[in-house]
Amino acid sequence: MENNCIFCKIANGEIPAATVYEDEDFRAILDLGPASKGHTLILPKKHAANLFELPEETAKKVLPLAKKLGARLEEGLHAEGLNVVQNNGEAAGQTVMHFHVHLIPRYKNDTVDVKWAQGTLTEDDKKEILGLF
Ligand code: 5GP
Ligand code: ZN
Repeated sequence: MENNCIFCKIANGEIPAATVYEDEDFRAILDLGPASKGHTLILPKKHAANLFELPEETAKKVLPLAKKLGARLEEGLHAEGLNVVQNNGEAAGQTVMHFHVHLIPRYKNDTVDVKWAQGTLTEDDKKEILGLF
């Protein structure tokens, strides 16, 4: 547990939160400022600031859990879609530096904005990026 990390305190039950799911590795809670009805956060109990710090054994459990809880939310709330969002770093919109996954149920004509303007893949960028792998 990291000092002064709000999500460490919530994940480990020191600060109460509306918990929709809990197991030995994770707690899933309702977001306090939901983008849509049912907006849920999956928090690992062990502190990791972001995806790059997340241990492999935790990482491999995250997507199956997102699938399970996302399906329950979508079905139970009669949503018509679901965004699974995970921000890493301030530039990417991360505001709480404890890894978390957003489950955002989507409804027709809702006001959620998870979009970007399409750019162009240049030959130079393509070459540079493919050269990284
Ligand atoms: P980020 O921008 O870091 O990806 O997402 C942080 C999310 O945590 C935001 O959606 C915000 O509403 C939510 N949040 C911040 N503080 C609290 C809190 O104390 N309790 C709960 N339940 N959600 C929080
Ligand atoms: Zn933490």
